[in-house]
Amino acid sequence: MKSVLLFTSLLCLPFLSVKIAKAEDAPIRKTCGTKAPSLEYELKFEKKVQAFLAARQNANSRTEANYTLPVIVHVVYWDPSQNISQAQVNSQIDVLNADYAGTGYNYNNTPTAFKPLIANTNITFCKAVKDLNGVVLAEPGIDRVNASDYGFKNPGTGWSDTYIDNTIKPATTWNSSKYLNIWVLPLGGGLLGYATFPGGAANLDGVVIGTTNFGTVGNVLYPYDKGRTATHEVGHWLNLLHISGDSECGNDYCADTPPQKGNANDGSGLSYGCPTYPFQVNGCGAGKSPYGEMFMNFMDYTNDACMTMFTIDQRTRMQTAMSSYSLRSALASSGTCTIAPLAPIANFTSNV
Ligand code: ZN
Repeated sequence: MKSVLLFTSLLCLPFLSVKIAKAEDAPIRKTCGTKAPSLEYELKFEKKVQAFLAARQNANSRTEANYTLPVIVHVVYWDPSQNISQAQVNSQIDVLNADYAGTGYNYNNTPTAFKPLIANTNITFCKAVKDLNGVVLAEPGIDRVNASDYGFKNPGTGWSDTYIDNTIKPATTWNSSKYLNIWVLPLGGGLLGYATFPGGAANLDGVVIGTTNFGTVGNVLYPYDKGRTATHEVGHWLNLLHISGDSECGNDYCADTPPQKGNANDGSGLSYGCPTYPFQVNGCGAGKSPYGEMFMNFMDYTNDACMTMFTIDQRTRMQTAMSSYSLRSALASSGTCTIAPLAPIANFTSNV
């Protein structure tokens, strides 16, 4: 039954944004354009998760590995307002580090019943200091891309994901075994962002975020002004599914995230806005969510300020992704966040 639900939700994905666009009286809704992987992919990954857990048990250790991931933010702009400030980029890196440590904005608002589940993922993010040729960057973690210099077309109200994947990414991506590529640009199609799952094509690998939902200062718009779009999309990039599993009472393969019906009423099982806790207690059946739904999870669709947490089982999936996909594990040792000390140069005179 789960497979039927998953496939149904996948088939429905292309229609989600259309439905949302037609909804009247609805607030601006958060939409994520990440395409969920196939059930076959998921079942393979589940085996990796079980192997990861078994290895950890054998090692007699509950400690997760620490990973530091070098980030390069490609700021792609057509008009100057899209050429966001260094402060805006830095504010997003700060959000990622706090959210992935379990200490992000409003984390203390997490309901008492869910607080023990808040995870420190042991994943941190650093700003790359060197480009592909080892040249020190003028602004750490930032690659500024003037769209007209590259011959990209006028984005109008925003580039489509197809145009970004076919044209912008191949022209601007940096080696994805050395950098987590994040593109910040005017994004169309009603999307706030989208990401690739592990195991895909190297030159498409990374995360795309709309200019006005990146970071917390500068050119950002409420209610997606706390940097949680990137937190969510990097979650996909580390193999997390939407908390609902993309269907009402669906499966996200995390035992500590209760199944949920959400409030979207579009079959996705996701929630918008910020519901009042407790929300839809046991909405998916007796005993299924005794404390209500976890709408404050980063992998839901709620407002930025409403989101507070990843769970322990989500951490396990991320750690498994880091350890089992070469394009992920290589990042932690790429060295692009440090400048190697220069070789000493002899500088003395002698009168002997
Ligand atoms: Zn998403």
